[in-house]
Formats: sequence, C-alpha cells, structure tokens
Amino acid sequence: MKNTITTINPYNGAELNKFQRFSVDKIDSILNNAQSTYNEWKTTTIKSRTKLLVKLGDVLNNNLEEYSRLMTEEMGKPIKESRAEIEKCILLCDFYSKNSESFLADEIIETEAQESFISYDPLGVILGVMPWNYPFWQVFRFAVPTLTAGNTALLKHASNVTGCALAIQNCFEQAGYPIGCFQTLLTDHDNIEELIKNKIIKAVSVTGSEKAGISISTTASKVLKKSVLELGGNNACIILDDADLEKHMDTIVKARFQNSGQSCIAAKRFIVTKGIYNEFIKQFKEKVEALNYTDPIKEDAEISVLAREDLAKDLQEQVDASVKKGAKVLLGNKRDNAYFSPTILIEVTSDMKVFTEETFGPVAPIIKADSMDHAIELASNSRFGLGTMLFTKNTEAAKLKIGEIADGAFFINDMVKSDPRLPFGGTKASGYGRELSQEGIHEFVNKKTVYIN
Ligand code: NDP
Repeated sequence: MKNTITTINPYNGAELNKFQRFSVDKIDSILNNAQSTYNEWKTTTIKSRTKLLVKLGDVLNNNLEEYSRLMTEEMGKPIKESRAEIEKCILLCDFYSKNSESFLADEIIETEAQESFISYDPLGVILGVMPWNYPFWQVFRFAVPTLTAGNTALLKHASNVTGCALAIQNCFEQAGYPIGCFQTLLTDHDNIEELIKNKIIKAVSVTGSEKAGISISTTASKVLKKSVLELGGNNACIILDDADLEKHMDTIVKARFQNSGQSCIAAKRFIVTKGIYNEFIKQFKEKVEALNYTDPIKEDAEISVLAREDLAKDLQEQVDASVKKGAKVLLGNKRDNAYFSPTILIEVTSDMKVFTEETFGPVAPIIKADSMDHAIELASNSRFGLGTMLFTKNTEAAKLKIGEIADGAFFINDMVKSDPRLPFGGTKASGYGRELSQEGIHEFVNKKTVYIN
C-alpha cells in the first residue's frame, strides 16, 4: 500500500496534488473524536441541526465555483455539470432543513397503552464509502440526513477525488458543525474491513461497484452491522412506437451521456420497438454526434474524458467483446487515453457484454423489440435493479406495467433521476436500502418502540 495519494487531471494527465495517507494513530484519533462528538451531538435539538443545514447550503453557494472546478479537475466532469451538482447539494440541504423535524418527530401509534410511539434515535458513528462519479452529491446525499438524524459521519472517499473529500469536510466545518461531526479518512480501501470491525463504527453506507459493495457488506454482516448499498445499474430505456421523439430526444440523450456516461442510473440499454426503430436511430445519432467534446473546464464542454484511463480501457474491452459477437458500430468506438468517444452500437443482443454488464461510459447499445411486452421482458432481463424508463404517449397503458418492473424506480416519459423528495435505491445486484426523502433519514436510526402504561 502506498503512503501517498496523487490526484491527476484525467483530461491532460497533469498531477494536481499529493496527499499523505493517514497513519494508524491518526485514524484512531479520528474515530475517538467521532465518538466523543457524537455523545454531545446526539443531545442537540433537531431544530439546531436543521439551522446548520441552512448554513451548509450557504457555504456551498459561496464556494460554488471553487468546488465545481475542483470536481472537474479531479474527475473530468464538464464544468456546467459540476455547478449543477453543487446546486443539487444546496437543494438537498434546503429539503432536509425544512422537513427533518417532521421526519424525525415521535410517531404516535394508538394501542392499549396510555402512550405508545416510535422514537427515531441516532445510531452513532456511520461510515460512508463513496465513489468519484458525483464527488459532492453522493457524499452529501449520505451525510446530510445521517448527521441531521443525530449521527456523526466518517468518509472514505474514492482516492482520485481526495481534494473533494477534504473540501467537503471543510465545508461542514465552515458551516459551524462541531469538529468531529464529519471527518474524512485518507486511507486505502484495504483498511475498510478493520474500520467496520471497530466498535466505534455502527453502520456503513456504500455507493460504488458491486465488488466494493459485496466486500463491505460481507464484512459488516460478519460483525452484525447494518449496511446500505447503492451499487451499479444497467437501466433500460424503452422507446415505444408512439413515443414523442421530438419532445423527449434531448432527455433520452442526456439519460445516457450526462457525466460522460458515468452514472449508476444512466440509460444503459436502449430497447426500441420496431415501428419507431429507424427514426429513433436517425434522430438519436444526430444528437449524439453533435455533443461537444473538449476540455471539461471549458464552458462549452458537453462531454469529456472518463475519470481514469483504466475505466476507458474497461469500456473498450466491453465494446470489443460485443462487436466480436456481432454488434455493429454506428458511431464512435475510439479511445484516446481516458477519452472514449460517444458510441452507438446496433444489432445488440442479450448475450453481449454491453447488455449483460454495466457500461460506465458513453456507450449506447440499441436493441430492437417486437412489442411493448417484448421490450419489458428484455428490460427485466438484468441482474441489476436500479431503474427503468419508458417513453410512450399512452401513459395509462404504461402504468399497467408498474408491477412488472422489479427495479427501485420506474420513470415514464422522463429519465431516471434522483430527487431529495423521493426515495432512491435499487433491488437485486444494485443493492438495498434507500437514500433521500423520509426513507433516507430513517436508514441510520434506531426505530425505538416506546410503550407507557
Ligand atoms: P469502486 O466501487 O471500486 O470505488 C468506490 C469506492 O469504493 C471508493 O471509495 C473505493 O476506494 C472503494 N472500494 C473499491 N474497492 C473496494 C473494496 N474491495 N472494498 C472496499 N472498498 C472498496 O469504483 P471504481 O472506481 O473501481 O469503478 C469501477 C466500477 O464501479 C465502475 O466502472 C462502475 O461500474 C462502478 N461504479 C458505480 C458507481 C455508482 O454510482 N453506483 C460509482 C462508481 C463506480 P478506492 O478509490 O480507494 O479504491
């Protein structure tokens, strides 16, 4: 294990910064600090915690440009999307500042007792293991409800966004959160097992690959600690014959290509019924071809490099294997270091890697379906279960299919997206548990039954 983490701009390969990984002693002291801060923090009122959320939103707003540039430099996100990410974090703070008191209020349940209710108590120190694709949003989505419920949080962020990890800790401290409420751990992921086994850590939330999720949840279950897993996805985007392409094509393109395709909830399999297939391909290709590739720090960047070169290589391998099995390249399939050009594959079948595996980059496999039922059958043929989207003018017919979709989300005439007001999470290999909304703030609490006679 190396003692130093070096962050690199994936667009030009320039070294950005070097960080020392924390020593065992330092990690111990951070854990103890998280515990002692928790002992005080849990006694504060929810109102005082929601007031801090307002300040947290202000700090994000005041530093919006700096944080956005940092994300773009560390992982290559187009700068406009970085700004949108910070704005979404501000919305999240606003949502939980307005709603947490009611979400966490005692819930009266009428029984024979004089009084009986559920009390939502914090659990303690919660570990978040987070990925690089939305370096601020993924962390805020975990930390804001977790802290507001009265827990303290530790962050093990992806190494390539270490600058963001430290900036986020600074953001909480600037907002006035007690030191120790939110701390970043600069450590190798090999140390996560030891951390989870430590008695101070009470639960863990993971967003990332299936491999990371399995490894962490296995460790957590061995020591009987709760985990929430938000892992990969292979969302289908179904286009039916009667879809309004003029109205929705921008959304459909964004569903795959935003964040240069590196989103768990992106559309990763386009399943198109035969009556609209040719017209869909024509319009889709025109829009995808027009996406502007440049340095992500430039205002007009619409697509850019992937976060690391190895991710582009993995994608190349998935595309090559699928082409070998008969997929045809309609557009793209060119790699240059961490850049992978926007790619459209047609004549894709359900035994190809671009169909069976998650493609974490700008690759759109298109599959032809005979009918709505066939399209739903193909969509459901996945190990993952994050979400499905379906485009049609007949929303009533689409609603009849809700029960057939085994995913955590079903979006009709829109792309799958997260929204602080709605629960977010998956089924099957996409993980378990929910983030956001009331569901999210109730993940890391002790739902205590109180019975008074
Ligand atoms: P990882 O899942 O490996 O990284 C996410 C986080 O998990 C990081 O903090 C990482 O730390 C940590 N981690 C990695 N491996 C382990 C492990 N064995 N035990 C404990 N923690 C671990 O993502 P990658 O960067 O490797 O991306 C690989 C693939 O994962 C992508 O191609 C994509 O399919 C999927 N992914 C899904 C995301 C989502 O939003 N659901 C987000 C990112 C990736 P460290 O950086 O130190 O390795």
